[in-house]
Amino acid sequence: MKNKTIDTKALKPHWGNIIGIAVIHILAIAAIPFFTWKAFAVCMFLFFVISPIGVTLTYHRLLSHRAFKVPQWFEYVLATFGALSGQGPVLLWVAEHRLHHRFSDSQKDPHSARHGGFWWSHVTHLFYHKEFEDDQKLWGRYIPDLTCHSYYHFLSKWNFAVALSIAPVLFLMGGWSFVMWGLFMRIALMLHVTWFVNSATHRWGYRNFDTKDDSSNVWWVALLGAGEGWHNNHHAQSNCAAHGRMWWEFDLTWQLIKGLEFVGLAYDVKRPVPVKQVKAQEIDNAVEVTTDQYGNQFIDYQEEIELLANVV
Ligand SMILES: [Zn+2]
Ligand SMILES: [Zn+2]
Repeated sequence: MKNKTIDTKALKPHWGNIIGIAVIHILAIAAIPFFTWKAFAVCMFLFFVISPIGVTLTYHRLLSHRAFKVPQWFEYVLATFGALSGQGPVLLWVAEHRLHHRFSDSQKDPHSARHGGFWWSHVTHLFYHKEFEDDQKLWGRYIPDLTCHSYYHFLSKWNFAVALSIAPVLFLMGGWSFVMWGLFMRIALMLHVTWFVNSATHRWGYRNFDTKDDSSNVWWVALLGAGEGWHNNHHAQSNCAAHGRMWWEFDLTWQLIKGLEFVGLAYDVKRPVPVKQVKAQEIDNAVEVTTDQYGNQFIDYQEEIELLANVV
């Protein structure tokens, strides 16, 4: 069956995202003449601290999938780290990701490579308004466990201020070269690594599990994204705290979670079982949506959210 492609002419441009993404890329390019080895080291250090802890461990495995638990005060600390990533409001991040799993690679997936192509899944889906995005009541139904915390509303509202808050510290430490590389270049690189999890790992690589979506395992995304590249494993069992499941699938974030568990800061950790012991009926799959039934990508969220409200 030929996949129906997304008609972007029918969608409204999201100027806030377009301008924000353009500005961060212009500033990342502008950082190049400011290169020093020290600034590069600061960029890499912050990248490999904020990306694994803030984005993959916290936004993804803890808040989106509840693959483990931490004390509430510590969850707030971790979420603040996540806000340093500059990846937009945490509430929307988590809601959109839960939507991605529920409708993965169907027409209602917010960023399916199957229907929109590589660049759509990587970044251009952000250039358009999604129907659910404009109504917090709609997407808020996906995240009742987060909307009840006023701190997450605060972090969502002020996410860019939090992301920029380390600029004065960087400036005092090393002037403009530290700001340009430690902030803007680092945020741009982190965005692309997160976006590769939506694009490359739904397009290339190998599969351990026969999921109905196109999720796949890509080693270089796993290395850059602290284990997130083992994405087929993740889609197959989305609330498992470990994404690497074979001996060669190194998963830095899983090691960090085990470290937190060891010192008593993480508990109820959803542990992996060997791949061969996972039965077909234990594999998570998205809601089936046929291309014949739905005319375009962004209809009927309301109906599905009503359904989901009875599940979460
Ligand atoms: Zn995915
Ligand atoms: Zn996920």
